[in-house]
Amino acid sequence: MNIAIIAAAGAGTRMASDRPKQFLLLAGTPVIIHTLKVFEQCESINEIVVVLPAAESAGFLSLAGKYGLRKVARVVPGGVTRADSVKRGLLAIRAATAEIVAVHDGVRPFVTVEEIDSVVSAAQTDGAAILVAPVTDTIKQVTDQRAVQTLDRGGLRRALTPQCFRYDVLRRAYETADVTDPSVTDESVLVEKLGIPVSIVEGSPRNIKVTTAEDLLIAHAILKSN
Ligand code: C5P
Repeated sequence: MNIAIIAAAGAGTRMASDRPKQFLLLAGTPVIIHTLKVFEQCESINEIVVVLPAAESAGFLSLAGKYGLRKVARVVPGGVTRADSVKRGLLAIRAATAEIVAVHDGVRPFVTVEEIDSVVSAAQTDGAAILVAPVTDTIKQVTDQRAVQTLDRGGLRRALTPQCFRYDVLRRAYETADVTDPSVTDESVLVEKLGIPVSIVEGSPRNIKVTTAEDLLIAHAILKSN
């Protein structure tokens, strides 16, 4: 069985709003519901664990039901950091039946069914795989407010989600992880540290993370063009 962990327990402090960004409305529907609908359609995903702020957890299963989201099996209260939240989601998964775990940011509603299926499939073959997008800007290494080095963007990728792993690989990665370390911003960094190769699947730059008020403007434009 392949399980998705949707990390959606952020407080949304970068968005000038009194609601966490995963609950803001896009065309009348909360961002998190848009995201879950894509996973609901994926043949490669059997079950979904949603990690939410504790205050939002109670009524969520009935909200999911209203939108016909039948794969949402469990709602777990999140932690202080994203890594802490994902670890809590991981601990809620039954080891005996888990094959692939797909970790996805709840605030990335524009991921496609094809992208999720491709990353799951790559993880089934390779053990670990992540969705990435090209870097189109020139990236500078900065020290003391000065550009000191220019990185070769041809060899760089932006790490998106989903990030998919064999269950045992992700469990090992999180067993030794310091989930309070601010440099742990995705799962791949933990798996890389174990020395396990992580395959990449090229994805669309449309798979944005709705983080700021500007992102919400872009999100509305993407939704319209879809
Ligand atoms: O903070 P960041 O932009 O990396 O958040 C990415 C995803 O992780 C968001 O969907 C957010 O809701 C989630 N998150 C979480 N628990 C936290 C912080 C962020 O599940 N404590």
